[in-house]
Amino acid sequence: MKHISSYYAATANPVAGFAQLTSDITADVAIIGGGFTGVATALELAERGLSVVLCEANQIGWGASGRNGGQITGSLSGDKAMQREFRRTLGDKAADYVWELRWRGHDIIRKRIAKYGIDCDLKFGHMQTALTHGQLAELQSTYDQGCRHGMSDDLTMVSKADMHAYLETDLYIGGLLNRKNMHLHSLNLCLGQAQAVESLGGKVFENSKVVKIEHGSKPVVRTAKGSVRADKIMLAGNAYHLLEQKKLSGKLFPASLANMATSPLSVEDATAINPHNLAVYDGRFVLDYYRLTADNRVMFGGGTNYSGRDSQDVARELRPALERTFPRLKGIEIDYSWSGMDGIVLNRIPQVGRIGSNVFYVQGYSGHGIALSHILAEITAECLMGDPSEFAVFENCRHWSLPVGRTLGSMMIAVGMTYYSFRDKLEG
Ligand SMILES: Cc1cc2nc3c(=O)[nH]c(=O)nc-3n(C[C@H](O)[C@H](O)[C@H](O)COP(=O)(O)OP(=O)(O)OC[C@H]3O[C@@H](n4cnc5c(N)ncnc54)[C@H](O)[C@@H]3O)c2cc1C
Repeated sequence: MKHISSYYAATANPVAGFAQLTSDITADVAIIGGGFTGVATALELAERGLSVVLCEANQIGWGASGRNGGQITGSLSGDKAMQREFRRTLGDKAADYVWELRWRGHDIIRKRIAKYGIDCDLKFGHMQTALTHGQLAELQSTYDQGCRHGMSDDLTMVSKADMHAYLETDLYIGGLLNRKNMHLHSLNLCLGQAQAVESLGGKVFENSKVVKIEHGSKPVVRTAKGSVRADKIMLAGNAYHLLEQKKLSGKLFPASLANMATSPLSVEDATAINPHNLAVYDGRFVLDYYRLTADNRVMFGGGTNYSGRDSQDVARELRPALERTFPRLKGIEIDYSWSGMDGIVLNRIPQVGRIGSNVFYVQGYSGHGIALSHILAEITAECLMGDPSEFAVFENCRHWSLPVGRTLGSMMIAVGMTYYSFRDKLEG
C-alpha cells in the first residue's frame, strides 16, 4: 500500500523508491518493518559493517513514523515506571540513566541529519503548556530538575503574563520553554535514513510483507516472493504487525492517534500565532499538540480515541480544539487530515526482548516514539553486535500482559484514556 494521504506524503522529498524482495537472499541481520525502529537499527548496523536487509510491507515510513506530530521532546511517557524497573539492572544509577535517556535521542537524530545531509525541516524550540495549577507545578518541577542537571540555558519558565510573546492564545496559565527540543518532517527523516542504509550497502525492500518467521539456528523471514536467511532477525512492526503472537499477544495495544494540517497561513498570521516557531503540547494526559510546518501550516493533533480504530472524521474532531487555541484561525481550511497507530504499553516502558536466541523485538512507545525509537535502535544494534548490556536494562523490565485479544485490549485502554481525559477536564 502507498502512504496514506497526509501533509507528510504530499511534501515528501522525491525518492526513487525501493525494490520489492523477489528472491532468496542472506544477510547478517534481517529487519521487519520500515519505520524509525527498523530503519534506524538498519543504519546503525550498516554503519558497523554488518550486512543488513530490511523488509517493509508497504512503503518506508508508511506507519506511525510517517504520520506523527514531528515533535522530539524529552518526554519518556513511562519515566517513573522506568526508574523503578531499571533499578533491577542498574541499581542506584537508574535515575541518572533515565535522565540521560531523555536527551540521548536528540543527539542521535541531530548528528544523523548532519552526517547524511537529510533535508527534513529541523527546527529547535518547544513549549509544554499548563492548563491547570497542577500541570504548572509539574512543569516547575521539571524546570528545577533540568537546572540541577545543568540545563538552565535551555529552559525558561514562561508566566501567563508573558505567554502572548510566544503564543497568541489565552488558554494557558504558563509554560516551560525548552530550546533543546526539536520538531521536523518525520517522513523525510525516515526516508533519508533508509537512503543512507542503501548508501552503505544495506538492502531496503518495500511492498515486501513478511508473512512468516521460520525459527532455527539460521532463521528465515518469508515474503510472498522471496526470503531472507539471517543470523539474527529484528521485529520492528510496532502496532502494525501480528507476527509471533504466541509470545507477543496481550503485550501491546494499537491506539489510533489523529493529526491534521491547515492550509498555509500568511506570514503575518503565522508570526502572530507562533512567532518563535515552537512545537507545543499541553500538560494533559490526553493532550493537544501542534506546530508550524515549513510552509506555515498549523499541524494539529490530539483528542486521541485510543480505540485501535481510525477516527471517522479527524478534521471535524480536531477543529474545535484548534479554534479554541487560536481564535484567529476560526474557519480556516483543513487541507490534510489523517490518523495512525502507535503501540501502547500498559506501564509505558518500551518492550524489548527476544523470542528464542536470535529473533529480537522492539516496540511500544506509547505516543512518544521519535526519540525513543532511535535510542533503542542504537541499543539494539549494540546487542546484535554482541554487547547486550544496555538491551538488558529494558529486557529485564516486567510487563503486564492482558489475557485478551487486541481489539478488546485496545477498548480497555480506551476506557482508561477516557477516565484520564475526564479527570483532566475536572482539574481544568
Ligand atoms: C498521529 C501520531 C502522532 C504522533 N506524534 C508523535 C510526536 O509528535 N512525537 C513522538 O515522539 N512520537 C509521536 N508519535 C509516535 C511515533 O510516531 C511512533 O512511536 C514511532 O514512529 C514508532 O516507530 P516504529 O518504527 O516502531 O513503528 P511504525 O512507524 O509504525 O513502523 C512499523 C512498520 O512496520 C511495517 N510492518 C508491519 N508488519 C509488517 C510485516 N509483517 N512485514 C513487513 N513490514 C511490516 C509497517 O508497514 C510499518 O511501516 C505519534 C504517532 C502517531 C500515530
